[in-house]
Amino acid sequence: MGLDRIVIVGASLAGLRAAEELRRLGHTGSLTIVGDEPHRPYDRPPLSKQVLTGAKPPESTALQTATGSIDDLDLDWRLGTTATGLELDERTVLLAGGERLPYDGLVLATGATPRRLPGTDHIDGVHTLRTLDDSLAIGAALHATPRRVAVVGAGFIGAEVAASCRGLGIEVSLIEALPVPLERGLGPTMGGVIADLHRDHGVDVRLGVGVVLIEGADRVERVRLTDGVVLDVDLVVVGIGVGPNTGWLEGSGLTIDNGVLCDATCLAAPGVVAAGDVARWPNRRFGEVMRVEHWDNAISMGTHAARTLLSGGDAEAYEPVPWFWSDQYDRKIQLAGRAGPEDDVEVVAGRVEDRKFVALYGRAGTVVGVLGMNQPAQVMRWRSLVEDRVGWDDALAVTRG
Ligand SMILES: Cc1cc2nc3c(=O)[nH]c(=O)nc-3n(C[C@H](O)[C@H](O)[C@H](O)COP(=O)(O)OP(=O)(O)OC[C@H]3O[C@@H](n4cnc5c(N)ncnc54)[C@H](O)[C@@H]3O)c2cc1C
Repeated sequence: MGLDRIVIVGASLAGLRAAEELRRLGHTGSLTIVGDEPHRPYDRPPLSKQVLTGAKPPESTALQTATGSIDDLDLDWRLGTTATGLELDERTVLLAGGERLPYDGLVLATGATPRRLPGTDHIDGVHTLRTLDDSLAIGAALHATPRRVAVVGAGFIGAEVAASCRGLGIEVSLIEALPVPLERGLGPTMGGVIADLHRDHGVDVRLGVGVVLIEGADRVERVRLTDGVVLDVDLVVVGIGVGPNTGWLEGSGLTIDNGVLCDATCLAAPGVVAAGDVARWPNRRFGEVMRVEHWDNAISMGTHAARTLLSGGDAEAYEPVPWFWSDQYDRKIQLAGRAGPEDDVEVVAGRVEDRKFVALYGRAGTVVGVLGMNQPAQVMRWRSLVEDRVGWDDALAVTRG
């Protein structure tokens, strides 16, 4: 079947990069992009960093194409429009308000939404951070100079928000239920390094404790913790992870299991591909079914999914080495590959004490990840060890040689 009409649901990074690749590959038919936010696609990483502190204006986050203007893609924009359902047999996307949008090919790129703390929706001053509007709201509250901010959850978003607060000279408590920050992403050893980084910048780091209650009359006043401590705060930012935006696809016939489940080529059903934070697929390089919430993956998976859609059934497997960075204070943290709590960890260049080092992660005798702090060139250099599935002992010999 020819693909005259392609619909992309999710007007952000993965969706835009899919659109770009579809046009680059010669798709001349219609290309409709549906997004529930009012904005054209923008970049999210600055939202917890420069936009939050006011160092960059919100307009600077607008995404363009690699080759020029977004307008060159000749997209039919459907912004401020929520997709509410999918009829696979009819090849039709349902939109809020009852409109039906028929397609020949469909890209699902609806990303993810932050989890909220139960019972806090009605309390003013309790925020999550995903969108430009979230970032502007938190930024405005920070510039109103709060007494103390509580950041609940020391994953990447929470850690970056804490660092941004300190950059503005604001007192901040970073509250994490696990024993160290970023434990799921970096493991216990390197999570401990991140904890010290924040302590040294004056963050009140509270580990192994949860939030019992957020209290306040009109707006937030206190956070009560599981160890009995009560913190007086006037702003709370909750960063306890995200869930993929798949609610609208329930009952569609697609397999939904912590994301839209795809095959190794990003195909979710005939004529339907998925990409970015919403998609889960078997990455054969790691022998793992994964869903990756990184900027780089949204780009490469969006591009790959577009190729799969136009491949006529002859698509290649998507087997990337996931990669992300995080900026906290003057440190750039980068990880290529995977890092789990049980992995072996070995520092192979620089010194942890200097907060300038490279570490390898090993699992079952193979290198699975390379972490760098303020060592971007080295991370890119040793990333090939992960790509090539080099044995752990051989890798240590190479890096020491
Ligand atoms: C604050 C912040 C900082 C980050 N910093 C980094 C970083 O430093 N390094 C890094 O590697 N990654 C970072 N990331 C992660 C990165 O930005 C994401 O992985 C990336 O945005 C994912 O792109 P996406 O297109 O898959 O999803 P999203 O960007 O989430 O876009 C999905 C879009 O679909 C829309 N949508 C959802 N449901 C519907 C529906 N039913 N109908 C219509 N539209 C819908 C959403 O509103 C959204 O606009 C950060 C993310 C955030 C939030």
